[in-house]
Amino acid sequence: FALLYIDIDHFKVINDSMGHDAGDQLLTSMTQRLQKNLRQTDTIARLGGDEFTLILDNLSDAESAISITQNLLELLALPMAINGRDVHTSGSIGIAMYPDDGDSFGSLLKNADTAMYRAKEMGRNTFQFYTAEMSALAMRRLELEQCLRQAIDREELVLFYQPKFNLTTGQCSGMEALVRWQHPEKGLIPPDEFIPLAEETGLIVALGDWVIRQACKQMSEWKRNGYSIHNISINVSARQFHEQDLCGLFEKMLEEYQLVASEIEIELTESILVEDRQKNCEVLDRLHAMGLKIALDDFGTGYASMSNLKDFPIDTVKIDRSFVSGLPEDRESIAIVKAISSLSNALELSLIAEGVETEHQIAFLKSNACFQGQGYFWSKAVSAEEFEKTILMV
Ligand code: C2E
Ligand code: CA
Ligand code: CA
Repeated sequence: FALLYIDIDHFKVINDSMGHDAGDQLLTSMTQRLQKNLRQTDTIARLGGDEFTLILDNLSDAESAISITQNLLELLALPMAINGRDVHTSGSIGIAMYPDDGDSFGSLLKNADTAMYRAKEMGRNTFQFYTAEMSALAMRRLELEQCLRQAIDREELVLFYQPKFNLTTGQCSGMEALVRWQHPEKGLIPPDEFIPLAEETGLIVALGDWVIRQACKQMSEWKRNGYSIHNISINVSARQFHEQDLCGLFEKMLEEYQLVASEIEIELTESILVEDRQKNCEVLDRLHAMGLKIALDDFGTGYASMSNLKDFPIDTVKIDRSFVSGLPEDRESIAIVKAISSLSNALELSLIAEGVETEHQIAFLKSNACFQGQGYFWSKAVSAEEFEKTILMV
């Protein structure tokens, strides 16, 4: 967990100029505002004056403290109506991480306080960690976030495409669109290095919007040029389900690019079926009713509840590559792949294995009723140009 020390900037000025009643009112309103925006597991306390402490419990890593703290700074900087006037405030926050920065309340509080003073020295309206390395990490992250924000506007994102194959006929049966970031200095950055950040910061909504538009545009271009392709898969993150009108966007794309809904498959992970289940299910049902296909990605790695397969409108199950890579020797991988295969066949779902790299894996998959595959055995994800030359032309 993290212990945060929050101090409202220039509180004394408000007290001196508007009176103590106004100051009290500001503290009360600020407390309510903070309380309303905390997660259920967080604990806030007012130590005295304009100083608050906050315990952020259940952090998956130190980095998630960064995005929560940034949100807090935004909350602290929203104007506050006091006596009919908008008062502008900001806050400085110091962060101590348990157990690295202290293993008692006293030491954590002292170190968070020290960090808070450093945030004041930095010019206020900011945060600092107690350890310099953590502050440096936070800086790099903020920089990356800034760059990523610009990358979307500057059109530095590109889609690569990886073909999927029918294991029986050996023919290309479709493709998956995979995003890359063409950084002007750092070169081609793989999605694992920026998608998690985009998800945490909410940038995934703009990014995902671009991906969907670009994938549909490319698909229509290929169709117009006479290539026979019938299936494009697009990865969609959980946050896009909450914060974006996905149905509206896909309706627009189908219309604009004259695509058939069943040519588009959305790949989603099991987390969508766990958090906000009710709402996500409604969106999924609507997308499915429009005719879009739904695939469950990385199947078996998440909170896999098998009942999800019948409770949600799933068309395709994608066996995660961590299981495929163990084939055909590893006993546990064999058991898991067999189980996934018989389950999806019994439920009449289409099945595809990802991360297929060898002939032996293909033979195993075929003999276990899995007839679709994707992986380096055939091709990596490649640029649209290369995809056209090496996959579509043959
Ligand atoms: P994923 O959806 O599971 O995509 C499959 C990843 O496995 C891709 O990595 C692909 O290049 C890689 N792969 C394919 N075949 C093989 C193989 O035979 N062996 C091995 N070792 N790897 C193989 P990539 O392109 O780096 O993408 C990583 C992840 O980033 C994706 O995992 C997906 O979760 C995410 N991602 C990529 N593009 C998007 C996007 O447009 N939107 C969202 N939300 N996520 C994306
Ligand atoms: Ca995928
Ligand atoms: Ca996958």
